[in-house]
Amino acid sequence: MHDYNRTSLFIDGGWVTPAGAGSIDVVDPATEEVIGSVPSGSSDDVDAAVAAARRAFDPLITVAERKDRLARVIAAMEKRLPDIAETITREMGAPVRIAQSVQTQVPLAVANGFADVLATFEFEERVGNSLVIREPYGVVGAITPWNYPLYQVVAKVLPAIAAGCPVVLKPSNEAPLSVFEFIEAVDEAGLPAGTVNLVSGSGRVIGERLAEHPDVDVLSFTGSTGVGQRVGELAAGSIKKVALELGGKSANVILEGGDLATAVKVGVGNAFLNGGQTCMAWTRMLVPRSRYDEALELITAAVSRYTVGDPQDPATRIGPSASKSQWETVRGFIERAENDGARLLVGGADKIRDVGYYVAPTVFADVDPESELGQEEAFGPVLAVIPTRDDADALRIANCTPYGLSGAVWGPDVESATTFARAVQTGQLDINGGMYNPLAPFGGYKKSGVGRELGRFGFEEYLQTKSLQLPKTHS
Ligand code: NAP
Repeated sequence: MHDYNRTSLFIDGGWVTPAGAGSIDVVDPATEEVIGSVPSGSSDDVDAAVAAARRAFDPLITVAERKDRLARVIAAMEKRLPDIAETITREMGAPVRIAQSVQTQVPLAVANGFADVLATFEFEERVGNSLVIREPYGVVGAITPWNYPLYQVVAKVLPAIAAGCPVVLKPSNEAPLSVFEFIEAVDEAGLPAGTVNLVSGSGRVIGERLAEHPDVDVLSFTGSTGVGQRVGELAAGSIKKVALELGGKSANVILEGGDLATAVKVGVGNAFLNGGQTCMAWTRMLVPRSRYDEALELITAAVSRYTVGDPQDPATRIGPSASKSQWETVRGFIERAENDGARLLVGGADKIRDVGYYVAPTVFADVDPESELGQEEAFGPVLAVIPTRDDADALRIANCTPYGLSGAVWGPDVESATTFARAVQTGQLDINGGMYNPLAPFGGYKKSGVGRELGRFGFEEYLQTKSLQLPKTHS
């Protein structure tokens, strides 16, 4: 049974009445109906949660204890994944097939990845006459977005537990209900009071208090670049460690001799995954001019297979935008791209259903790389196709946005695609169809952020480093 009318926050090991009054409605974007609400916490709630986390912090916590906590949380979470998938479909419109797979199975793989890292990680090493020790960093403030609500939380809370760092979590207001269900799993796992705390509420209040809080040691934020800049500025006041996972405008680069048919099929699927609401989506497709017409035909045929509709229908591949404001944002991008002279190949900004925040999968050809659609993420099912003269032109265009989060390269062979990829300023690239790896470091270049998540590199973000210089007798 789902409880979508939440009135308590999880602080210091229990469900407590918030200090702040008020609540925030959660709307099903497919029906436009309010399906529940969560408390609108206050900065007093943040302070109580941070104090509980500070009390729970034990810098000498054993690795065995951390492994045990992690295993208990993963087991309790795994049992709840079918329920959490249902909730994600209701609160942000992810089609059931996406909710049951990417939205919940990837977080499980990511969580198990942290357990694997913890099993083999070397916490001490010798560097000359020094003993170098990796310790838990301290109290973590985690702020997450709505697009993959469980994944974003798992990518922060699980490595923090593995590292021995207590957490105060602030989820997105658009999709908080699945996060409350995850916290029920944490509660069932029976971690010591204060190890994980949940404070829902406004980003401006809860998020900003967490970012500026003098007793938070690490601030891990995932969201838009604008808000990332804001939390970075606030965090600077107390010199805390900051990890920012921000926006992207990633390029799917098809080189001369690359497998065009596969590149288009995989590229369209990537761009439209989760309705295009994916930070690492390849939202620009770069195609050699010599194969441009052929590519446009393949793209049009591929897009016709992307059925838009009720997210509860197993045949649906694209559900609604997650919220009314997101829907308006995406349609605004489409309208302005037409005015900027891009050629509408398929889709458009027209309303396609009477109820629900639906956007048709949309493709623009001849997009100017310097135009708004060539530079900024729409965060909806909108693909920009850009012709390229040669490899040098493709590289220039791939690197011409303020972002650098993800991307793909399709070359005639792995070696030449890899050589090209080395020059692309981005944190992750799939080479000739290489698959997503939940253990590989994930994060941005340029305005896509600082720091890395996932696997060993994500885990190390939560560790402090201490050097002990030993006397000669111990060298
Ligand atoms: P957002 O508006 O930046 O919000 C992200 C989180 O920050 C939410 O919890 C939000 O709370 C909170 N927030 C808002 N204003 C704040 C403030 N002044 N101080 C502190 N916290 C504040 O982003 P979003 O719309 O949820 O997510 C979409 C964006 O996230 C896209 O740009 C996407 O590319 C990016 N993203 C990046 C990654 C990555 O790994 N690089 C992954 C996923 C998404 P409220 O809910 O109260 O607004």
